[in-house]
Amino acid sequence: MTDLYRLLPEEMERMVVELGQPRFRADQILYALYYKFPKSISEIKQLPATFREILLAKGFTIGSTKELHRVKSKDGDTMKLLLSLNDKVPIESVLMQYQPKKLFGHPRSTICVSTQVGCAMGCVFCATGQMGFERNMKAEEIVGQVIHFARILYERGHHVTNIVFMGMGEPLANYSETIRAVQLLTHPRGFGIGQRNITISTIGIISGIDRLADEKLQIGLAISLHAPNDKLRQRLVPTAGSSSVKDLINAGKRYFVKTGRRVTFEYALIEGVNDSPEIAEDLVRLLRNNGSHVNLIPLNPTAGDFERPTRKNVIEFERILYNGGINCTVRVEKGTEISAACGQLRTDILDKYNNELNKIQNNDRDF
Ligand code: SAH
Ligand code: SF4
Repeated sequence: MTDLYRLLPEEMERMVVELGQPRFRADQILYALYYKFPKSISEIKQLPATFREILLAKGFTIGSTKELHRVKSKDGDTMKLLLSLNDKVPIESVLMQYQPKKLFGHPRSTICVSTQVGCAMGCVFCATGQMGFERNMKAEEIVGQVIHFARILYERGHHVTNIVFMGMGEPLANYSETIRAVQLLTHPRGFGIGQRNITISTIGIISGIDRLADEKLQIGLAISLHAPNDKLRQRLVPTAGSSSVKDLINAGKRYFVKTGRRVTFEYALIEGVNDSPEIAEDLVRLLRNNGSHVNLIPLNPTAGDFERPTRKNVIEFERILYNGGINCTVRVEKGTEISAACGQLRTDILDKYNNELNKIQNNDRDF
């Protein structure tokens, strides 16, 4: 079984030629996949019926992501989906829309994709980390999440403008499938989104960051730092292991030198843990003069004892970074009321439905 969404355009060409078809059949398939978003091979009406039958007989498929659950924020700008993959495991993907300031124009539509089912990194404040690791996702499953939302956006007259690898899982721990997904999504004959419109977020696997830098892609990199010193970081990211905060900063510098893309450091602000003015000063000393950008994410409380800091503390933390010359933003809080922290929806839903998951998986609700 090969999912057509797995094949890069060159591979698609090889495949159709091997099946005795003219080369242009590949373009017909690619056009259908990335402009029409079919849910099955029989929906690719651009192809002659005989060739569709050959594809089916040879075991080609179009993977189905089935919607198990959909939640929308009150303003309608954030939509979070619980999708079931072919083997019925539930995963999360999110759409965040940012309305244009001008009267006319399209909203920015960012899709947040998952790369693993669960995660082995065990970050103590993260719902995905708490569920443990189940399996890596295939490139076509990552691309499938984008296509699922592209279909929804198409009906609204909108399109996907940005993709962030910030859903469930650690993308650099699933390196080759993540890179294949990036290639499929950015290939001009594939989904065709600009490399600069993609960001990969990593907990900081150094070897993966260096490997990514060598790919010479123009994608953005975000490193989840969360603490200015090793002791605190190891408490929050128990699997940080031997890579120190200094190692992460240096890996970020190497990425910048090789790609020319500035690195963002993500920092989940947790009340009473890493949000004090002293820690903010430490962060300034650590990052001063290296041109990096800090994205503060006030915690989305999940299981565990961690809380979101007060607005006042967040503003104070930001002010210290700003006065210290650190380029800094606070992530716009989107979808807090719909369990928007990664892994949270799946946890909430699984808790709610408990052992009844099979029931919702078998319910082919079509939205
Ligand atoms: N594994 C990667 C990408 C997925 S997590 C990583 O850790 O970078 C994407 C971002 O969401 C990370 O910066 C992570 O720290 C953050 N995050 C996870 N749980 C969160 C929570 N409960 N509240 C706020 N941010 C959270
Ligand atoms: Fe995994 Fe990222 Fe969650 Fe850590 S924050 S457990 S690396 S998904």
